[in-house]
Amino acid sequence: MKITVARTAGFCMGVRRAVEMALDASNSSLDSLYTYGPLIHNPQVMEVLAQKGISTIDKIPENGKGIVLIRAHGIPPKKEKSLSDAGFKVINATCPRVVMVQSIIKKYAEKEYAIIIVGDKNHPEVKGLLGYSQNNGHTISNMIELETLPEFNKAVIVAQTTQDTIFFNNVEKWTKTNFPHYMIFNTICNSTEKRQAETRDIAGKNDAIIVLGGKESGNTRRLFKIANKTGKKAFHIEDISELDLSSLSSAQSIAITAGASTPNWIISKAYREIEKNLRKKGKLSNAFYKTRDFLLHANIMLAVGAGSMTYACSKIQSFENIFIHATIAFLYILSMQVMNNLFAIKPDQYNNPDRAQLYKNNYAIFGITTCIFGAAGLFLSFRTDITCFSLLFIMSILGLSYNLKIIPPIFGIKKIKRIKDIPGAKTILIATAWGIVTSILPAISNSGNLFPAGIAFIFSTGLVFVATALIDILGIQGDRITGRETIPILIGEKKSITIIKQVLIAIPIILISTSFFKIINSLGFFLVIPPLLMLYITIYIDKENIKSRMKFRFIIEFNYIIAGIIAGII
Ligand code: SF4
Repeated sequence: MKITVARTAGFCMGVRRAVEMALDASNSSLDSLYTYGPLIHNPQVMEVLAQKGISTIDKIPENGKGIVLIRAHGIPPKKEKSLSDAGFKVINATCPRVVMVQSIIKKYAEKEYAIIIVGDKNHPEVKGLLGYSQNNGHTISNMIELETLPEFNKAVIVAQTTQDTIFFNNVEKWTKTNFPHYMIFNTICNSTEKRQAETRDIAGKNDAIIVLGGKESGNTRRLFKIANKTGKKAFHIEDISELDLSSLSSAQSIAITAGASTPNWIISKAYREIEKNLRKKGKLSNAFYKTRDFLLHANIMLAVGAGSMTYACSKIQSFENIFIHATIAFLYILSMQVMNNLFAIKPDQYNNPDRAQLYKNNYAIFGITTCIFGAAGLFLSFRTDITCFSLLFIMSILGLSYNLKIIPPIFGIKKIKRIKDIPGAKTILIATAWGIVTSILPAISNSGNLFPAGIAFIFSTGLVFVATALIDILGIQGDRITGRETIPILIGEKKSITIIKQVLIAIPIILISTSFFKIINSLGFFLVIPPLLMLYITIYIDKENIKSRMKFRFIIEFNYIIAGIIAGII
């Protein structure tokens, strides 16, 4: 049984850009924020925006205050002016590809060409485009409407960006035969074309296809139509909860695609639910997945990874007193991570709803666990070395205060109240804490040399930095909604991937050269495996449309354990 997620499923560039602009404005400004018309045709996203205080206005008042965001579909220029005249600050989030169609219409309308738009009359994008046609625009949505239009001396044909490509090709053919003097611009967005072509392809290759997206979303409805035409079992749903999963029981392979306004977390949820449902069929695989999910959600896997990394970092420095520090790292990371998850129940409902549910249902147990493990780690470090204890104590206090509102509103920055609100803090602080606990604490109590300790620190901090940033990339949409300023949100996914790759190339070079010059022992040659594995995962994540975060979290966290296994063997 196989589940395939379309590479093109989910937000297109324009929708993603508009949603990001709305969420960024909401996270960085205290002004009232409105969108002119619903930002996108997706009820779940609209609900989230409403929760963030972003409301919709459909009419332009005489006087207005605050920010109005123009959605990806664009609006007629007169309406944009009316919004500014009313007193609103206008943020124009019209998709650049729609702007290009607007520019074509504007240019030719000024030269008195008739404008023919192939599109749906009531679609907001088409209404916006007509606004540029200087009252000489005509919309056609079928061949009869095209054929009954009068002949124009000069005319330009453009398409609504999400139009059906086959219909537009027919329009083009007919026009070339009957009115060869008309100018034709195929303005169908290639993202739409690719999405439609892939839907046709995966619907053909699988037994059933699920099309996710708003019932009001024109492009999602078109995808469903395409999927349906293939004769395979096709479902158009907004959320997986609408589907009776038993209707998929006879399918050996299932494809999932989604409209341009469907967020990743809806697609991930559908993937997870179908996967869970399929698992029920095999007892062994069911037990494996349940255990995997628990180890990941409860952070046991991560804590074992911290112990393994400490073991590797200590062995690379030829220390003998290793296991006590591996245990301290296990206890500290487990305690801090469980505590962070307890504070993250609300934001986790988008990126990790199963984890949010687990922590909500077992709040007291996890609360007690974090205290016991934290205290045990401090006790062990006290028994080991007073400097280690002092450092771990400071790190524990910092970890505790990470989620608390302790930062006073200085310099008028009212949005930064907690350490975790500082942009990029999460990735950098987690990586540094891991570096200290896995390499510096063992070096202190073993009276280690500064240089090897520094190399071990770079190895550990670098690996944890890239792992955290990769997981942040997979959850970027949910983080944006909850206002988390992770590194991928700050600098963008592409730049983050570039930095991750650079770090993953730098670590093996440092390990090999320092092993070669005997600053660290020969284990350094073998410890290049975890960063290289991570590089492979990064390239894969960069290329594929990853929807199963659990699978990748498992691989990423298992990579730490691989470092420990290598250190144990060599
Ligand atoms: S479908 Fe294409 S044109 Fe339309 S919003 Fe998305 S990227 Fe822009």
